[in-house]
Amino acid sequence: MADFTEDQLTQLKAAMQQRYLTLQEEIRSELTHSSSGLDIHLADDLNNIPDDIDTALIDKQIIEMRELEISLKQFRELEFGDCIDCDNKIGFDRLMAYPSAQRCIDCQNKYEKAFPHKPNPSL
Ligand SMILES: [Zn+2]
Repeated sequence: MADFTEDQLTQLKAAMQQRYLTLQEEIRSELTHSSSGLDIHLADDLNNIPDDIDTALIDKQIIEMRELEISLKQFRELEFGDCIDCDNKIGFDRLMAYPSAQRCIDCQNKYEKAFPHKPNPSL
């Protein structure tokens, strides 16, 4: 695990949890403000998103939420803060800016070149 200070860890954890809640809220409001008017409950009905919703945006948000879940799990298991590709430190500033980051900047750039269009997540 990257050698963050206690203070940095507290900040990072708060940033991850805050980002997660924000995403959850955004998805919820997108789903409930669709013309279908369905009150969709997260997790239960993500497979049944109505056609008139911007699923590309929601897909991105769901991917980010999953990444945050992974980060929070790594956090609990003290494996947090290392790049999943090269094992280098992701860095405190980058994690504060992108709490869901799984890769260091170098690996993220390589990854995005290799996969310019992420496929839809399998829900
Ligand atoms: Zn890396």
